[in-house]
Amino acid sequence: MGKAEDYIEEALAAYELGAPVVGAVRFGEGHINDTFCVHTQPPDGACRRFILQRISAAAFGNPEQLMRNVVGVTDYLKKVIAREGGNPDRETLTILRTRTGTCYFTDRAGGAWRCTPFIEHTVCLQAAETPELFYASAKAFGRFQRLLKDYPADTLFETIEKFHDTENRLRNFRKALEADKLGRAAGVRDEVEFVLRRSADCSVALEAQRAGKLPLRVTHNDTKLNNVLMDEKTGEGICVIDLDTVMPGLAINDFGDSIRFGANHSAEDERDLSKVNFDLGLFEVYTKGFLEGCGGILTPAELEYLPWGAKLMTLECGIRFLTDYLEGDHYFAVHRAGQNLDRCRTQFKLVSDMERCWDDMAAAVRKYA
Ligand code: ATP
Ligand code: MG
Ligand code: MG
Repeated sequence: MGKAEDYIEEALAAYELGAPVVGAVRFGEGHINDTFCVHTQPPDGACRRFILQRISAAAFGNPEQLMRNVVGVTDYLKKVIAREGGNPDRETLTILRTRTGTCYFTDRAGGAWRCTPFIEHTVCLQAAETPELFYASAKAFGRFQRLLKDYPADTLFETIEKFHDTENRLRNFRKALEADKLGRAAGVRDEVEFVLRRSADCSVALEAQRAGKLPLRVTHNDTKLNNVLMDEKTGEGICVIDLDTVMPGLAINDFGDSIRFGANHSAEDERDLSKVNFDLGLFEVYTKGFLEGCGGILTPAELEYLPWGAKLMTLECGIRFLTDYLEGDHYFAVHRAGQNLDRCRTQFKLVSDMERCWDDMAAAVRKYA
């Protein structure tokens, strides 16, 4: 595909940005796409900024379907936000059309580019410096659920197949264990046992979904703090960004992934497990924000299963790290030997912690429901 820089001129030429472009520089701390901030300068007006992104071809095989999801959801959000008296240009992304009217541009090497106006006076934080910021992100993701509650989720493309099919993740784990290509299984007996003892858990959410208890919803699938732009003055969560993984799914999984990622104070690959602790206080903070944002749209069953969302997303992630370790670290890049095993262990430590304070988690949900 080549360096994004080699195609940026071509991509810029595809858009009518209203004024001459005076610069385009790599921007932000995203890990997936090539992101640039573009500056334009009209002769007699203020500079304007845009975000121009080349969508990762490695991560997403079908940019057409991906962009149809993004446009479907953002167009819909704009209408709902306007109806509620909000600012549709600030509270969701605007996908600019190219000169030919398409929602993305394909360069000569097949790279797919999209452009959105920069949402000014916001900040993008990599970590929750305070519980208030974690709360703000929770509220934004909860609001995202509320605003999209009537969107026909089944019309969205499943751009990454079986993304949170935990049963399938378990099957893949069993295959990797059986094959034991690198002879690593003997060294991870405790971890293998940990998974096998929880194999029935892997079906809990999917069974509830199959039984019609958990509704299919529009899910974001990357509900990290850095995918919410916060108001630079108030710290309020303004706009949910990074809609690449918007797909049909379960609300409890969006909730759960935020908890997995945010309700602890350690690195994902921390080797000293005494430092890896599930923070029930942060779980409460996130639950409060998420449920406030949801504004009562979650069903009683979804509320009941929220702790399951947290546990299953963490367990699933640990299983994926362990599977990759057994298979030889093909999927998650490693910078040192055993890193995927360390990552697996942190996730399993968090799962154990959650199991220990299960009743408190359920009580926290009831408190804010
Ligand atoms: P990730 O690693 O989270 O998957 P990514 O590569 O998919 O990231 P994005 O999250 O879409 O990329 O964007 C990268 C960064 O660019 C964001 O974290 C944010 O700082 C910035 N950004 C993206 N869109 C906008 C926007 N419309 N206005 C302001 N900043 C933006
Ligand atoms: Mg992002
Ligand atoms: Mg992303």
